[in-house]
Amino acid sequence: MSQFCPETGLVKGILPLPAPPRGDKWVGARSLSLVWSNTGQAFPSLLHVPAPLCPTALEHGDAAAVGPCSCWALGDPCADSRGSGLSFGQRVKKMERMLLWLPVLAGFLGIVSLAGLPEARIRAHPSHPSPGAEVELICEVSGGHGPWEFLWEKEDVLQRSMDSVFFIPSFGKNDTGTYTCTATSPTGRVIAEYHLETTNLKWLAFIFPRKSKDSAVLVNMELDEPLRNFSVCLRYFTEQIKSYALFSYATRGQDNDILLYKNRLQNYRLYVGGEFVSFSAQGKESTSQGWIHVCASWESSTGIAELWVNGMPLPRKALQADYAVSPEAAVVLGQEQDSYGGRYNASQAFVGEVTDVYMWDFRLAPDEVRSISGGWDIRSPALLDWRNFPYEMIGHVFLKPRLS
Ligand code: CA
Repeated sequence: MSQFCPETGLVKGILPLPAPPRGDKWVGARSLSLVWSNTGQAFPSLLHVPAPLCPTALEHGDAAAVGPCSCWALGDPCADSRGSGLSFGQRVKKMERMLLWLPVLAGFLGIVSLAGLPEARIRAHPSHPSPGAEVELICEVSGGHGPWEFLWEKEDVLQRSMDSVFFIPSFGKNDTGTYTCTATSPTGRVIAEYHLETTNLKWLAFIFPRKSKDSAVLVNMELDEPLRNFSVCLRYFTEQIKSYALFSYATRGQDNDILLYKNRLQNYRLYVGGEFVSFSAQGKESTSQGWIHVCASWESSTGIAELWVNGMPLPRKALQADYAVSPEAAVVLGQEQDSYGGRYNASQAFVGEVTDVYMWDFRLAPDEVRSISGGWDIRSPALLDWRNFPYEMIGHVFLKPRLS
C-alpha cells in the first residue's frame, strides 16, 4: 500500500499489481515502487516539495498525471522495500550526501576502470509489430543506481518521465525509425538506440531442423471479431511423411479451432471448431523445387471448406456451418497445440521449412489462390502478411534465405 510521508511530502510505497493484460504499462513488473509529487519535476528536485493533494492509492495502470499530481513508477521495484533501516527521507538525504562525493570518486576511478558502468538497451514488444498493433518500447537499464528518468526521442521529444516504457497504441508507418532512450539518474546517464521497423520475410523461410516438443514460431496475431470466413495459405518443404501440424490456431475453448494438419502422405485434415474434413491430394504434391503450396479456406454460412494444393483445387467438403471461430487465439507454426498456447507433442511437430504464410478473414477467389500459389502478391489487407510478419521464434528454429 502507498503511504503519505510527512517528512518528505511524498507518497511512497510498494504497490503489488495483478498480472496485467498485454499492452499494459506494467508488463513484467510484480510490484512497483511509487513516488508521487505535484511538480512534474524529475528526481531529485521533487523530493522536498509537499504533495498534500496526491491521492494515497493508485489504480492499476494509472501512470499518467492524477489531478495536480504526477505519479512516477520507479525502475527498481525493490528499491523501497529493502531493509536498510532508514526511512525513505533519510535514504534520500544519504543519497544526496553520497552525491557530494561523486566528483571526487569519479576523479579517482574515472580513468581506472569502465567496468560496472550502467548500460541501457531498448526492447520492443512485439519485436516485429503489424500495422495497428500495440507496441511497447522498454528502456532497460542494468548497473548504476536509480531512480531513473527516461527521455524518449525520435526526431522530437516523445516522452520524459520515470516510466521506462514508451507505448505506441496503434503501430503505423510513421512509427518506424530510430528511437533513443536517455536514462538519467543522480549517478549517471546512459543512452540506448533502437530501430523499429516492420519485417518483410519475402524470400526467407523458417527452418525447423529437428523434431522437438518445444521449438515453435509464435505468431502475434490480434483479431477484434470472431472469424466467420478465413483463408490460410503457406508454402512448406519437408521430407516428413505424416502426422504434423502446418498451422495451429488454438483458442481457450477449442485447441483445434483452426488446424491444418498433414495426416499422412498426400492427406490433409482441416479442423474448424474441433471437427475436421479430410482431403486427398493424390498426384498434386510434386513440384520441381520440392516446395508444396497449400491454401485452406472456410465459410461459416455454408460450412464449405476448400483445400488447394499447388494452385489446384480439391473437391470441396463442408463442416461447422454457422460456427464462429473465437478471435482470441494462440497461433503457432511448427507445433500442434492441445491447449491454448501449449501442450505440444513431438510426434506432431513439423520438421522442414515454411515460408509465405498468409491469413485473411475472407475466402480467397480462385484467381487469388492461383496468384499467391505462384508467388505473386495479392490484395490486402491480410490478417497475417508474410511481408510484415509478427513472429517470435522459440527454441530450435531459424530464419534463413530460401535455397530454392
Ligand atoms: Ca490439438
